[in-house]
Amino acid sequence: VCGEGVYNFAAGPATLPPEVLERARASLSDWQGLGYSLLEAPFTGDEFKALMDITRLQVKTALAVPDRYQVIFLQGGASAQFSLVPLNLLPPKATAGYVETGHWSARALEEGRRYGNSHLAASTRKSGFDRVPAVSEWALSDDIHYCHITPNETANGVQFPEDPDCGEIPLIADMTSEFLSRAVDIERYGMIYAGTQKNLGPTGLVIAIIREDLLGQARPETPTVFNYQTQIEHQNHINTPLMFGIYLVHLMLDWLEEQGGVSAIHPHNIVQSEALYRIIDEDDFFYCPVMPEYRSIMNVCFGTRDESHQQRFLAEAEAMGLMNLAGHSHAGGLRASLYNAQPDAAVAALASFMTSFRKRYG
Ligand code: PLP
Repeated sequence: VCGEGVYNFAAGPATLPPEVLERARASLSDWQGLGYSLLEAPFTGDEFKALMDITRLQVKTALAVPDRYQVIFLQGGASAQFSLVPLNLLPPKATAGYVETGHWSARALEEGRRYGNSHLAASTRKSGFDRVPAVSEWALSDDIHYCHITPNETANGVQFPEDPDCGEIPLIADMTSEFLSRAVDIERYGMIYAGTQKNLGPTGLVIAIIREDLLGQARPETPTVFNYQTQIEHQNHINTPLMFGIYLVHLMLDWLEEQGGVSAIHPHNIVQSEALYRIIDEDDFFYCPVMPEYRSIMNVCFGTRDESHQQRFLAEAEAMGLMNLAGHSHAGGLRASLYNAQPDAAVAALASFMTSFRKRYG
């Protein structure tokens, strides 16, 4: 948790609610009356097995995941899925399509190309990743096995305005930076995966939601610990899971439930992001490179039209306790990440700083 008057706008790992950190801290001394901490507990114990079951159920409940989907916990962060998705779901001669809307979908495609016929179905690179192409613009051949998308581009601040409808083609979505920030029409997806370091806290942990009929086609060379089906068959106990991370996710899901779930947090996230976009659009001092209907509610990417102001903006913001507002190294500019746990006071402080900065230098 941030100190008094210090607000963290980092793109992840990100701000967590103080009460969650407090609960997590308590687990370090005596967990569930075992007399020792969660960090020392056996992963094969009943207590931890129960925790995993509960957390899986919490994910299913929070997103209304239908029965024919499985929820698993994986390691290696979201980037590992760029390889593990094709290894598990793409037979060697099959074709996968990728929609490129920013830095992370480009990374997914680059990695996917190592595993067979991965090709670009659509891209907005030429227009500077300023929007999301409509499904009608995607080149999806008849033999396509799945199509990969990144519904929220963390580095570019571009977000899909709705869950795309690709008919029978399984959609695979890297939802890392929007996971649990909104309700999702799960049926539109074959698989969703998300690194948990944004809305849920821990790094290195991935939650995957997979439609059962897509399982069972992993390539023989797929490492056993990364074989989705094998992990499911062994209730995620094929190796030592990221225990503390899973506990943190459980606490964050409790917290999300206390906030009213995704249906309550989504409008709250919209209000926060709109407060910043309003200031950006007010005149020509700031700009946002993304067309209004595709702007992210999680990662507000913007800049000062006069680039020489940018470093000063960051330095003055930091002096006021507004931390980590630099844009992603590939995208440049400025970025304010507003994940679920970002307090309204942080947004109000940033909005007021942006207004006064503009008044002083505009
Ligand atoms: N995908 C998206 C959309 C991301 O935002 C990130 C990290 O920020 C990643 C993938 C990579 O995640 P990891 O660092 O856990 O591999």
